[in-house]
Amino acid sequence: MIDAALRRGEVAVIGLGRSGIAAARLLAREGGRVYASDAGAGEGVAQAAATLRAAGIAADAGTHDLARIRGAALVVASPGVPPTAPPLVTAREAGVPVVGEVEVALHALRGVPYVAITGTNGKSTVTALVAHLLSALGHRAVAGGNIGRALSDIALAGDRPDWIALEMSSFQLHDTPSIRPTVGVLTNLSPDHLDRYPSVEAYYADKALLYRNAAPDSRWIVNADDTPALDLGVMAQGTRWGFSRRDPSAAAHYEALRDALVLFKTPLVTRGVLPLLGWHNVENTLAALLAVMVADSAHQTPDARAALAAAVQSFRGLPHRLEIVSNAGGVRWINDSKATNVSSARVAIESMDRPAVVLIGGKHKGEPYTSLIAPLAAHSKLVIAYGEAEPLVVGDLQGHVPIERGGSSFEDVMQRARAAASPGDAVLLAPACSSFDMFTNYEVRGNEFRRLAQAGA
Ligand code: ADP
Repeated sequence: MIDAALRRGEVAVIGLGRSGIAAARLLAREGGRVYASDAGAGEGVAQAAATLRAAGIAADAGTHDLARIRGAALVVASPGVPPTAPPLVTAREAGVPVVGEVEVALHALRGVPYVAITGTNGKSTVTALVAHLLSALGHRAVAGGNIGRALSDIALAGDRPDWIALEMSSFQLHDTPSIRPTVGVLTNLSPDHLDRYPSVEAYYADKALLYRNAAPDSRWIVNADDTPALDLGVMAQGTRWGFSRRDPSAAAHYEALRDALVLFKTPLVTRGVLPLLGWHNVENTLAALLAVMVADSAHQTPDARAALAAAVQSFRGLPHRLEIVSNAGGVRWINDSKATNVSSARVAIESMDRPAVVLIGGKHKGEPYTSLIAPLAAHSKLVIAYGEAEPLVVGDLQGHVPIERGGSSFEDVMQRARAAASPGDAVLLAPACSSFDMFTNYEVRGNEFRRLAQAGA
């Protein structure tokens, strides 16, 4: 598709963030005629357009030339551009195919094997862990996609890695028609993004696009404890292996008797040595180990298994995922700002091994909070509801668990948390909401939590 478009005419790149710039450059390097544009009026966008123009690429900042986009052979959309944005609507109306920047990058990186990871929760953790494990086996492996570096940026660097761990959101899957991983991983499925999808089915349908080019040699890793995830790829060609918290027939599973993560019938490590908190991270570790082991039979030798066992112990986890940011005064402050939906907040709450003050709120995404009642009743001493979602959170939880209103100043929320927590307690930020009512993104929210926790606000 990309080759044909490059021959046929101009490629329009929408969005001049890091990945848009990298995609525009990549396309130009492949000999394409490129027009890049971004409606943003900020200094960064103007600078990006100037840099591209200096490299001989047509670029507009502050406006999109819709007539030009209508006449393009292909449109490449940056991940942040919503499908309702005028240039994408124009392209669709004119019948111009729209792809994401990952499609462009995969084209440039053709031949490099990759493990693609999707699912509702755990994607970034599994992606980072897969890259870490592959590196421990001596490969030059990088993590990219919806995590860290844009894949186009990796492709542009010219230094081709041996392996890529590629995190794919549902939106990216939608726009990557040629995705065909060596190994594809589906971590789990539960309702999410109901603010952007008309229904859960529509969201799951995009996740199913992981399998769109399945072939007899495809390899799939799926959560064997998760019925929707199992159902999704059941018809896909290829071989499928499961990971499970309890089912001994799964290729990768946890065995309580020996407290062991068992891979292909042999224990690999005990759970006790894993540095990451929570049961969900046992699942994430099983998924990553299984993906790496089936990626190449050389990854299953006794030496490889020993290297993998050591590597899962040296993995430090990612910021904003059950990140312990302070233990001052005997109170453990835990930043799980990345818990942006109800199911991820639930696993975070379930991971608490001490009484927790739990901060829930932000921008509501459409799901009810009632499934948090049982884990909160078991693990929390107080819920502080805050932000735009505050009335909805209070409405769903009041009468079931102790709850306070925190309002719309994050400093106030943190002060209330500090007042409520005693030595031996935890304060857990597990918002179950997106951050956009009060912050630019979940990272800014998590950084603010860390700063205030450490400052003793
Ligand atoms: P994603 O990239 O899919 O958002 P992350 O690895 O960034 O996933 O984790 C985001 C949050 O989701 C974590 O902070 C944790 O609360 C929760 N989480 C992580 N792994 C899992 C899992 N396997 N199952 C359920 N929830 C998870």
